[in-house]
Amino acid sequence: AALKSIARREDLKTYVERTPELYMLLQQAASRYVTGETRQEGVAASRRLAAEGYKISIEYIGENTTDADECEAAAAEMKALIQDLGRAGLPARVSFDLSHIGLSLDKELAYSHLMDVAAYAGTVETEMELFISMEESSKTEEILSVYARAAASYSNIGITLQAHLNRTKQDLEALAASPRRIRIVKGAYQEPEDRAIPRSSALNERYLELVESAIRQGHHVSIATHDEGIVDEGLKSRWLAYGNAEFEMLYGIRPELGSKLKAAGHPVRIYLPYGHEWYLYLCHRIAEYPPNLYRAVIDIVSK
Ligand code: FAD
Repeated sequence: AALKSIARREDLKTYVERTPELYMLLQQAASRYVTGETRQEGVAASRRLAAEGYKISIEYIGENTTDADECEAAAAEMKALIQDLGRAGLPARVSFDLSHIGLSLDKELAYSHLMDVAAYAGTVETEMELFISMEESSKTEEILSVYARAAASYSNIGITLQAHLNRTKQDLEALAASPRRIRIVKGAYQEPEDRAIPRSSALNERYLELVESAIRQGHHVSIATHDEGIVDEGLKSRWLAYGNAEFEMLYGIRPELGSKLKAAGHPVRIYLPYGHEWYLYLCHRIAEYPPNLYRAVIDIVSK
């Protein structure tokens, strides 16, 4: 939690931005997880990974935007990204936080930006999915409601569900009526004890149950994890034989696992983030898995 709060400390961020040596060192550490600052770098990395046989998920990094112009600029960036991916002939999943495009100001603003981007996605030649990330539990209700309204008009909009939240089983049941695109993750946010369970074998069991139910309900399911135990269980349970599931992993995390699964013929999607908010993203990855702090130091001293 302490590491996570570092990401939100504006004073630390400003200090990093004003200290060129530190900025460059942290940027080097971030390059393991972030494809670059620009859309061009994100699209180039997508092209490279697609040529290797991976499916693509891509995110313009950002969250909790409280300035309406910045929300609009983020939505415009998503459209420009969709245009560039289409021109490159790349089918892709564009992932994003609703709080990047307005949710922190007004959920109607997020909804209208999402509808605008979804309409635009329908105009490009390649197949585009829009995938909503799940944020802190204080936002779950609003995120699900914006998702439900938008998904009623556009079938290419997907939603992420967090296995660690106690409410998720019911949320999944509520989506059972029609097949959707669902990503299941363990959950990256620190939550109050009465709302979620921590990393544990109980969480892993719950994760497996959720994936199994989602697949049986006929959703297209992204098994978004780097947990080899869960991956092995998925392979043993022959989930992928249903034809509506895939693995999805973050760029730079356990790449050997993704590569092994792909070599065995399983569908694997890599989630590639780009953007000038790489510092925020690096802090999230370290908070989620503190040994990454050690890895970041090694990356810095070895370059
Ligand atoms: P863990 O039990 O956390 O880790 C299992 C093993 O994976 C670890 O032992 C380690 O070997 C490896 N590992 C895990 N994380 C890291 C890391 N950061 N660095 C290096 N190794 C690591 N969370 C949300 O709350 N909302 C979202 O919308 C969301 N979207 C996601 C989309 C994708 C495609 C993925 C893959 C994750 C997403 N997450 C999201 C993050 C997710 O909730 C977990 O925090 C993250 O995936 C780590 O959990 P795990 O399932 O890999 O299992």
